[in-house]
Amino acid sequence: MKIAVVGGGIAGLTAAYRLHPRHEVTLFEKSRRVGGNAYGYRTRDGVEVDIAVAAFGRAGYPNFYKLLDEFGIETAMCPNSFMSFHDLDTNSGIYMTTTLSGFLTQGLAALKPSKVWNLARLPVGLARAQKLRESGQLDGKTLRELLAMVPEFTGDTRTILLCVMCLLSSMSIAELLDAPARFFLEKLACHHDVISPKALYSVRAIKKGTQAYVRALANRIEGHIRLGADIRAVVRSAKEGVTLVMESGETHAFDRVVFACPADTALKLLDSPTDDERRLLGAWRYKDGRVVLHRDPASFPPRALVQAYTYLYRKGPDGEIAETSVNGALWFEPQAPDTCDYFSSQYPNFDLNPALIEFETVLRTPVFDFTSVETTKLLPRLNGVRGSYYCGSYFGFGLHEDAVTSALAVAKAVDAEART
Ligand SMILES: Cc1cc2nc3c(=O)[nH]c(=O)nc-3n(C[C@H](O)[C@H](O)[C@H](O)COP(=O)(O)OP(=O)(O)OC[C@H]3O[C@@H](n4cnc5c(N)ncnc54)[C@H](O)[C@@H]3O)c2cc1C
Repeated sequence: MKIAVVGGGIAGLTAAYRLHPRHEVTLFEKSRRVGGNAYGYRTRDGVEVDIAVAAFGRAGYPNFYKLLDEFGIETAMCPNSFMSFHDLDTNSGIYMTTTLSGFLTQGLAALKPSKVWNLARLPVGLARAQKLRESGQLDGKTLRELLAMVPEFTGDTRTILLCVMCLLSSMSIAELLDAPARFFLEKLACHHDVISPKALYSVRAIKKGTQAYVRALANRIEGHIRLGADIRAVVRSAKEGVTLVMESGETHAFDRVVFACPADTALKLLDSPTDDERRLLGAWRYKDGRVVLHRDPASFPPRALVQAYTYLYRKGPDGEIAETSVNGALWFEPQAPDTCDYFSSQYPNFDLNPALIEFETVLRTPVFDFTSVETTKLLPRLNGVRGSYYCGSYFGFGLHEDAVTSALAVAKAVDAEART
């Protein structure tokens, strides 16, 4: 079949790679690069760093790791690194350092009984929360309500939990508090290694950076990728299949189309969506998040306390965490030299010296709220209707594994349809 794939993130690349060359595939990507949120950037020093997607826990990414194995792409632990949580107002925090210099920089503060106690409460609180989920007591409840139900989820424990959920969802704390508790606990159950000491060896990065697999996938479909593709509409008809109408007026005819772009974009492109498409795709809101590559350490704790992920947070009047940025310290990436001093800050909530900003961009991510997560189980039924298929991270928990799994499902369904 002639198949158009719309979107060149990990979902679109995986779908196109799996469908080619049995089918005649063309991948249309709106921007001038493939990879979507797997964003490699070559710094002035000539190092290719990952400014967005970077880490994958072994527990929750079986299909993604299989794909890496297919290409012989190696992963590595982030040595000597865990997470730090730094209060921007008090210049103090929780620094989960694994090195002697990190320990010495904190001094006796690291051993304060209240700190150790707070850390020990996290697994107890999580176990209690998972029991509540399993017994159905969290159905219809928000994360704010869950926090009130679990006595362990206060103080430092709450700070750690919410910061990690910001990392895992690209959502803000305000958005998370109103989000469905059950969904996020299911996500934490699936990605259980991220929020435990197991993370030290189980959460891994790509040895040569994410562009290693992005390039490997793109190379397999070389000559079949159109960058800078400006699609105006996708028109479907029972007899003529699918037509992509470009902004230039050009048209391209296909038998099938795979939408691997955000759900809201797919809906906008569709000339006459079905009721189901309107309802299921229309449930998704997206967030345009600022991501800044910079070398400004002014708001950070001393370098010995900075970890691969360092959260810079502020508390609200009730003394609980109210907002945070998620900051990647890029010298922990396996491909970066120790001399690297770049940070990648997602939604910076602190002042940045403009002279120390090297690059910034806006990345789109789905918002997981009560309306959108209700569609997750229903989305696969759109596949195969009116010559259209859908995939992307919004089919699951919003991570690479979800994008890959949904793309593999699309490739399988297209093949099955082609055989009939
Ligand atoms: C800062 C940040 C860090 C993250 N870190 C991680 C991480 O460490 N691990 C992890 O698993 N996940 C992480 N994620 C989540 C990440 O978004 C998903 O894992 C995954 O990359 C999403 O893939 P996708 O293919 O579904 O969508 P995207 O990557 O968003 O790809 C969609 C593609 O469609 C293209 N497109 C949009 N509109 C059109 C159009 N009209 N025509 C053609 N093309 C179009 C876009 O340009 C884009 O290339 C992170 C996200 C962000 C923002």
